[in-house]
Amino acid sequence: MNNTIKNHWADITADKIIRNCDKDTYVCASGITPSGTVHIGNFREIISVELVVRALREKGKNVKFIYSWDDYDVFRKVPKNMPEQDLLTTYLRKPITIVPDVFGIYESYAQYNEKELEKYLPIVGVEPNYIYQASKYRKSDYAQGMKTALDKRDEIIEILNRYRTSDLANDWQPVSVFCNKCDRDTTKVLGRTSEWEIEYSCDSCGNHEVIDLRTTKAAKLPWRIDWPMRWSYEGVDFEPAGKDHHSEGGSFDTAEEVSTKIFDKRPPETFQYDFISIKGRGGKISSSGGEVISLPDVLEVYTPEITRFLFAGTRPNTEFAISFDLDVLKIYEDYEIIERAYFSQPEGAKAQKKKEKTDRIYELSQVHGVPEEMPYQIPIRHLCNILQIFDGDIDGVIKYLGDINENQLERFKVKATCAWNWIKNFAPEEFKFEIQKEKIDIELSDEILTLLEQLRNLTEQKMESLSEQDFGTELYDLMKSNSVESADFFKIIYQILIGKEKGPRLISFLYTIGKDKIINLLDFYKK
Ligand SMILES: [Zn+2]
Repeated sequence: MNNTIKNHWADITADKIIRNCDKDTYVCASGITPSGTVHIGNFREIISVELVVRALREKGKNVKFIYSWDDYDVFRKVPKNMPEQDLLTTYLRKPITIVPDVFGIYESYAQYNEKELEKYLPIVGVEPNYIYQASKYRKSDYAQGMKTALDKRDEIIEILNRYRTSDLANDWQPVSVFCNKCDRDTTKVLGRTSEWEIEYSCDSCGNHEVIDLRTTKAAKLPWRIDWPMRWSYEGVDFEPAGKDHHSEGGSFDTAEEVSTKIFDKRPPETFQYDFISIKGRGGKISSSGGEVISLPDVLEVYTPEITRFLFAGTRPNTEFAISFDLDVLKIYEDYEIIERAYFSQPEGAKAQKKKEKTDRIYELSQVHGVPEEMPYQIPIRHLCNILQIFDGDIDGVIKYLGDINENQLERFKVKATCAWNWIKNFAPEEFKFEIQKEKIDIELSDEILTLLEQLRNLTEQKMESLSEQDFGTELYDLMKSNSVESADFFKIIYQILIGKEKGPRLISFLYTIGKDKIINLLDFYKK
């Protein structure tokens, strides 16, 4: 299977990166400010980079995959979904790295948001090197970058002004400061006092002092300078960005120019990734309540492979919705179609061509490489029915299915867990059922009672020997001989089985429930 044709968008991007500059080790970057829960839209950037990293590595290149936490950014706004709003409000305008973790788990608010993502990324096969910007700035690792920005202040102003509607003030400085006394960024940099020193004053507390860029913890670059400085510092070859940064005159445009002209660094290869919307969480969560959908929420209903498939199977510049409604089943079905194709040899040129494309998507959807044999396949709808019959007992389901081998077990358990989570939390009411445990209160005619007894006996005597189709034929014959309309009978039998008037297709449903359970249930209705 290693002869897959590699023309996925990640492969095409990898080729572009190599064409830009031929080297042994490439640096691919992603990053965000941990100012709140990192949501699934932000995850799109991380996974996009990971896919390109993988493509480069498969071309024999060494790749450094860095993920920058901009935790020296300013705490601008208290997110609605956080507790302790009053306490958090007192930290506005301070660096998020010193804001406390209101859940009391981690050292800071920033670290809480960082670790809550970092612990889930390996599950989907994403393992970058993390860089913490607060730590880098406070160690003065970027002192030279800040000095360069100050040295070339006039050129920077000229570049930025071309993208602005109103010019920057004449005394604007390309460095900002968190006050050493009150930690706020309510400061004004007054100018340089020597090659490495700057003078600032604070509007909040009146502090006024001179700091040395080589030793201070307080200085940093504003975003539009910080980003290209880090491209230069890390030698970044590839970094995608969202629509907001990639808009006309947005920070990617200015960063490209600042990178080239100020930091003498060729800007990285890039692409724009689009937004993600969420579908089918209505009822449980209102979108106005500040609810944020993050990676663990998605992993609750999608396996790690299918989570990757959602992104690997869609071009980055295409907007799409992650669904929690019935579409979940369709996504599982789509994935399993390409999985079957991967492990088979299609006939005909057209099918072969399609397979080449989907094989690559299948490969890129895997967390730890393609399994040696095809994972256990069971239609998701059928699995959902069995899970409901077994009331979510996955070990019971495994025993019932009886043909899942050792190598398939782990993946099957994850899939079954996701399916059960979906049934419990998101499946529409008409999809859900519970096998009855006692007799229900229902009035039954003599004909129906006779028919139920005949069905009981048919089940006992012939369910194991007859095919589902022949069993169905016999049941229809019994309905006819008792002059019972099938529609009427279905309503009753579903009520007896699951307490509802409708359910999964009857005959195969009876076979899935199994002989013993059906006999026990029908025995309640003996004449
Ligand atoms: Zn101050």
